[in-house]
Amino acid sequence: MTTLNNNWFTEIFQDQGTAFSLQVKQKLHEEQTSFQKLEIYETETFGNLMVLDGCVMLTTRDNFLYHEMMTHPAIFTHKKPKKVVIVGGGDCGTLKEVLKHPDVEEAWQVEIDERVTRLSEEYFPELCESNNDPRANFFFGDGIKWMREVDPGSIDILIIDSTDPVGPAEGLFALDFYRDAMLALGEGGIIVQQSESPLLHTHTIIKDIHSDMRKAGFDHVQTLPFPQPVYPTGWWSCTMASKDNPVKYFREDDANNRPFVTRYYNAGIHHGALAMPQFMIDALEDE
Ligand code: SAM
Repeated sequence: MTTLNNNWFTEIFQDQGTAFSLQVKQKLHEEQTSFQKLEIYETETFGNLMVLDGCVMLTTRDNFLYHEMMTHPAIFTHKKPKKVVIVGGGDCGTLKEVLKHPDVEEAWQVEIDERVTRLSEEYFPELCESNNDPRANFFFGDGIKWMREVDPGSIDILIIDSTDPVGPAEGLFALDFYRDAMLALGEGGIIVQQSESPLLHTHTIIKDIHSDMRKAGFDHVQTLPFPQPVYPTGWWSCTMASKDNPVKYFREDDANNRPFVTRYYNAGIHHGALAMPQFMIDALEDE
């Protein structure tokens, strides 16, 4: 639920008894797409803000934290990352990070709602600056169905950059989807999923992700926490799992010598993110 009072946009997390506010200059856009309500605001200090169905998706100022962590740990863990598929991610921020890697030969963004991408091109152009890269491919449709039909063994890294596990994204957090992902991934394949807040969701959503990924055959599952000021609690995570390589394997020299700029990610951050907090280890150790 959101409110707008005296130019303060507020997302209220009723069940947590908390809220997050940003001072806004103006509402830039609002529409009901075929899938969700999409709003864009100009804020006083965080650049532009995208909201889907009343949930903050991203701001200009802090999206790099999320997009870099959804991308670089997985790519620097895979030994030969040639084909990367993003499910969701319509703002194109993850795609931009993926395409920074010269080893990646082909990247797909499979987004259910084309309007998210079209409005990102208008209001977040810096995230869309690699959209014309010849390696970039776009499919607008349901990622769950797409995953059922993709050639087996054809993907090296699958990034699930989705909304929360409700509505069209619910099935992206499900055992059947992980089974389809397992078939779609090739040797050494890696799946990485945005996995919500460590503080709020370790015993629920994150625990279920670990359990379902293992049931689907992913032997190595690891949650990497990172800061994300505009999301509930300001602390977020992605969960990375591999078919047949320990996710703690890390091409550290390549990360240190990366031929591109990052603002959050580096080898030290990568190591640090692999050290799960004790309460998470305790909660997830049986999964
Ligand atoms: N960083 C964001 C977060 O964690 O809240 C996610 C950003 S991205 C905008 C999420 C995208 O997932 C949305 O654009 C939404 O349309 C898309 N999405 C949701 N369910 C989907 C599905 N089943 N297939 C493909 N895309 C989906």
